[in-house]
Amino acid sequence: MTPHAPGLPARVEDPPAAPRIAMLGGTFDPVHLGHLRSAVELREALALDRVHMIPASVPPLRGEPRVSPETRLTLLRLGIGDTPGLVADPRELHREGPSWSADTLASLREEFGAEARLVMALGHDAFLRLAEWRDPERLFALAHLVVVDRPDFEAPLPAELDALIAGREVGDADTLMASPAGGLLRLSLPSRMAISATEVRRRLAEGRSVRYLLPEAVERHLLDHGLYRD
Ligand code: ATP
Repeated sequence: MTPHAPGLPARVEDPPAAPRIAMLGGTFDPVHLGHLRSAVELREALALDRVHMIPASVPPLRGEPRVSPETRLTLLRLGIGDTPGLVADPRELHREGPSWSADTLASLREEFGAEARLVMALGHDAFLRLAEWRDPERLFALAHLVVVDRPDFEAPLPAELDALIAGREVGDADTLMASPAGGLLRLSLPSRMAISATEVRRRLAEGRSVRYLLPEAVERHLLDHGLYRD
């Protein structure tokens, strides 16, 4: 350590900034540009180090995905390519049983520490069902929630959800990121895209084009392997 001059106060080093990490969970059946563009814009809006895109092995609140978790992960990796700050994170594929988001957040919290700014990002359609999730209060103990607008899903909030989020909403990213967890922010991202995996699957089943709805590497892989063809 360098000694400081007598009479001058010791130089106080800035503490290292807490990591800023988001989880964007989903079925990704398959990943499309709505997911990827939202992840990039979310990273910019919150100055995040990384957005972990985490495919659910067994999504709790919906029917069985059309293709295996491993294939959805492969498509996600192809979709992300070398995009800075986006990560295809396989951690839910290594767990047995339903993919509870609170367990995933707990494992991120353990990895990145108590001071990390941890965000669970989700689209408005997924947010509308939040009160039905397992142990939703625990989600707020572990992370902030950031709700991303989707142009094709704009319904008002059910009463139980209103009660769950009471007192948590903040108005901007700086306020949210001043603490490690517990807040709620709604974001309207610049390139809101009305793309859904449902529509992508429907088009593929009908042999119609999906060009420009998903990255070309994803399109090529699923056409080459005849995925979602019925
Ligand atoms: P499906 O049509 O099969 O229900 P999806 O397109 O909604 O699928 P998911 O994998 O269920 O995709 O979504 C993962 C997360 O990404 C969810 O939080 C969802 O709200 C969000 N999301 C999906 N599509 C978009 C989009 N176009 N814009 C913003 N967020 C999106």
